[in-house]
Amino acid sequence: MRMIILDNGHGSDTPGKRSPIWEDGTYLLEWKYSRAIVKAIASELKKLAIPCHILVPEDNDIPLRMRVQRANRIAAQNGISQTLLVSVHLNAAQSINTASGWEIHTSPGETKSDEYARVFWNNAKDLLGDKFPMRGDFEDGNPDRDSSFAIIRDTACPAVLTENLFMNNEKDCKFLMSPEGEKAIIDLHIKSIAQICFSTV
Ligand SMILES: [Zn+2]
Repeated sequence: MRMIILDNGHGSDTPGKRSPIWEDGTYLLEWKYSRAIVKAIASELKKLAIPCHILVPEDNDIPLRMRVQRANRIAAQNGISQTLLVSVHLNAAQSINTASGWEIHTSPGETKSDEYARVFWNNAKDLLGDKFPMRGDFEDGNPDRDSSFAIIRDTACPAVLTENLFMNNEKDCKFLMSPEGEKAIIDLHIKSIAQICFSTV
């Protein structure tokens, strides 16, 4: 891998995309959290000498079409097969406390992204699997979920999208907000990216 593109989901102006306000007054905003996670991943990758690019350094939401354009330009410069896009998100269920756990998404069909998603899956299982459900979809033999999200579907390079626990599940959300939880989410991304970059692909 020559380049890792890190995408942080949503923006400060995206409506919804937040946790409820819990009894103790705490809450989480997806755009803010995903930016903090992506920044921490980027600084660790720097230490490992793995080149990376933060796709949306702005706080406001950048439309998906523009995100895809930016990503495809970077992929063209570095080689499409040598670029991996990782989009970091938090999940939300329709109502509070009805779902919990970790997921990874790739575009439909069998691609190289499925292989990379499996690396993420294994690290997430190691770091979160004893506390939270691993929400895999093994119908096609891979643990990733096939989804038609624009950021993974329309990007030319391999791309995965992580849904890091449910922000509207109290247990998930409290863990995400804890130093231990934040570290687990950052670590699973770094370990996975490092394994992908240092393997002979
Ligand atoms: Zn999201």
